[in-house]
Formats: sequence, C-alpha cells, structure tokens
Amino acid sequence: MNHVRVVVVGMGMGGLGSAWHTANLIPDAKITLIGDEKPYVRHKLRLVTQGMDLWVNTRHIESKGVEMILDKVTKIRREQKEVVLSNGETIPYDYLVLATGSNPTIPSRLKGGEHCNVFRRLEDVQNLIDKSPSNVVIIGASFVALHVADAARAVGAQPYVVVRSRLIRRSLEPELSAKLEEFLAEKGVKFVKGRPREVQENKVVMEDGQVVESDMTFMATGVSPEITLAKEADLELLDGWVIKTDNQGRTSDPNIFAVGDNATVIDVITGKPIYMGIGTAASIMALNAAKALSGFKASYRVPRYQRDVFFGGIHMTSVGLTSVEAENEGFNVDRTYLSGDGWGDHAYIVYEKETKRVLGFSSISKEDVGWRSIEVLTAMLRKWPVSKLGVDIS
Ligand SMILES: Cc1cc2nc3c(=O)[nH]c(=O)nc-3n(C[C@H](O)[C@H](O)[C@H](O)COP(=O)(O)OP(=O)(O)OC[C@H]3O[C@@H](n4cnc5c(N)ncnc54)[C@H](O)[C@@H]3O)c2cc1C
Repeated sequence: MNHVRVVVVGMGMGGLGSAWHTANLIPDAKITLIGDEKPYVRHKLRLVTQGMDLWVNTRHIESKGVEMILDKVTKIRREQKEVVLSNGETIPYDYLVLATGSNPTIPSRLKGGEHCNVFRRLEDVQNLIDKSPSNVVIIGASFVALHVADAARAVGAQPYVVVRSRLIRRSLEPELSAKLEEFLAEKGVKFVKGRPREVQENKVVMEDGQVVESDMTFMATGVSPEITLAKEADLELLDGWVIKTDNQGRTSDPNIFAVGDNATVIDVITGKPIYMGIGTAASIMALNAAKALSGFKASYRVPRYQRDVFFGGIHMTSVGLTSVEAENEGFNVDRTYLSGDGWGDHAYIVYEKETKRVLGFSSISKEDVGWRSIEVLTAMLRKWPVSKLGVDIS
C-alpha cells in the first residue's frame, strides 16, 4: 500500500502545526519534518533573558510517526517531486508544505544598516545577553520592537525606541498607541521621535541631528517572507514578495502548500488576501492546509488576533481591523471608547455604521482583557452587532 508522502519544511509554528494536523487527519501519511533550527517558542524569545527554556517538546509529534530532520533544504525539484538537503540527500514528496517563516528587514536605504542587530532567532537574544549593553537603541515601533525593549531592560540596559509615526500602528487605534507609549515610559522606556539618518557602531544619528548613544542597535521595522526556495522553484509570488496561495494555502503548484509567515491568508472580514506575519495566523494556516491535504474542500478565513504583554504588566490586545484599516477597506466606520468592566483601561470597539457589525477591537491595559477579546472575536466571526456584546452605542 502506498502511503501519501508529506514533506514539511520549517519547524516553527507553521511547520509543527502542519505536521501535527496532517498526522492526525491522515494517520497513515508518511510525514517528514525538516528544519534548520530545533523548534522553540519564537514569540517568547525575550523571556530567555529571564532564564526561560523555550525548547518545544516534540514527543507528541514524533509519537505519530513523523520523522524529524535537522537540516536545511537547499532546493525543490518540482519535476521529480523531491527536496534536496544541504548534504545532497533527496527526500521525495507527494505534497510539500513550505513553512519557512520570515526574516527581519533592514531597509537598504538606511546608512550603516550593517551595524544593526535583529531579534528573530535564539542566537539574537543570546547575543544581547552576552554583550550586556548599557544603552540599546531599537529602530521601529512594531510589537517586536517592544519585545526587544523588554529584553533590553531585563539585561539591565536602557532601551531607546525610535518611532517614526506611532506604536503598533497596524493593530492599535491611534489614541491607544499614545497610551501604550505613556505606560511604557512609566516602565523606563525612552522614546526618540523621527527618522534615523545613519547607524554608526556606537550611535544612531537622526535626520533632525539628534544623536542617541548606543551599545547595540536593533532594527525592528518589519519582516520579509522567506521565499528563497519558492522563488527558485518558480512558484507564483504576490507582488514579488510573498508566496501566493489560494484560500486553502495551495501555491501555484497544486502539490505545494505554503503556511505561516511566508504566505498570505484570506482575511475573515474583507475576504481578501492579507499578510499577517503572526503566530496565531500561522496556526490556522497550518490547519487549513492539512485539511486541504486530507481532501477537505472548504477553507478557513483568518481573523487577526493578537495578545501581548510588555514589561510583565502592559497588555495589548487587538482583534480584526482598526478604524483606519476598516475605512481604507471601504467600510463606513464608527467606534466607541470603552474602559473598565473587563474591557481594560483603554479600549475601542470598531463597527460598521449602518449594520453595527463588529469589525475590530483594540485595548491597552494594565489588566488582561482575555475573555473580552474572545467575546469580540466570536462577535466578529459571527457578524454580530456590537449590542450583542452589551456595548451601548446609543
Ligand atoms: C520577538 C517576537 C515576538 C513575537 N510575538 C508574537 C506574538 O505575541 N503573537 C504572535 O501571534 N506572533 C508573534 N510573533 C510572530 C511569530 O513568531 C511568527 O508569526 C511565527 O513564528 C511564524 O511561524 P512560521 O512557522 O511561519 O515561521 P518561523 O517561526 O520563522 O519558522 C520558520 C522556520 O523555518 C526555517 N527554515 C527556513 N528556510 C528553511 C530551509 N530552507 N530549510 C530548513 N528550514 C528552513 C527557519 O529557520 C525557521 O526555523 C513574534 C515574533 C517575534 C520574532
């Protein structure tokens, strides 16, 4: 009897999820999981500074018969349906799942970019610990930038965050970016406003001439999907930048899927492809692709759902679209400010004006708003009006 052969490349959230779900949905599949890093919990990287062990125990996956190979895939031979490892060995597949993740971007126009560090892999946080800097400058206002600030503080450094517009712009209402900044300043984070002109070994020079002394400078402005294998194999890309997939995660080659940070997903609200680059999306993408492999015809759309906690007590929650994004998507938008009653210190719920349908939510708070965020997520997925959440908008 021929067992379907599934090869998964990458052992991050997308790859582990793909192997796990495929093993459960197709119990007799021969699954090979290949990655160039042993699996660990990437989104908790900063906690290594506090001694946390991030290694993922993969016994549950291996107990399903999944073969794990620690190596780099250097090539996909689509005609032969095989991948090539760095040692020249080839592994055949019937289906290939690319879960190759993404890499931090260092803008090429920034002078002195070579002096910048990034924060993506275990060795990056280890480097921060080993260098034990006094001043750390972080360029970028993303959630990863704030993870670096958190880690810098934990190793005893003074974090300076260079912000061009506002914090976590993609996920927060504008007023909440300001609140987050206020809360972080209370924790000792210093903010530098404007654009950096040049990074030098021991300083960052801003366009307005300000100079910020730096023992270590990090770039955290965003990521680029890791598409080397896909590009070389001539898989179709979207905007030349990210792997193009259908609503089940299938690439332009029907035998190859892409999940996680290297591909787009279909947004649950707009029904359009969108790049999320977050772990929660990678998990759903992995399930979506595994279901497709098992013959399931339907597909999952993905809600953006983010919860994060900075400096041990500043909770950021974001679900769905911000009002700015919703407007850009053509919705006639309204929003309501919420505070207390489980919503956190400062929150906004975003809805469509006519139907009152929930489109998004974001909150900055010193208390966790976990259960409320699940309620909003449910409302969004079921297209409920805000009134169903007990929110008075009269
Ligand atoms: C500091 C930080 C904090 C974060 N916080 C959050 C958070 O709070 N919430 C959230 O949802 N998301 C968070 N994220 C994002 C989240 O970590 C990513 O979305 C998630 O890791 C994506 O999973 P992935 O499997 O697609 O990619 P990755 O985790 O990047 O895994 C891809 C793996 O594939 C390997 N690989 C690539 N090419 C090859 C090859 N040719 N051969 C073999 N192996 C290969 C890579 O080395 C890597 O190990 C955070 C990210 C960072 C860096």
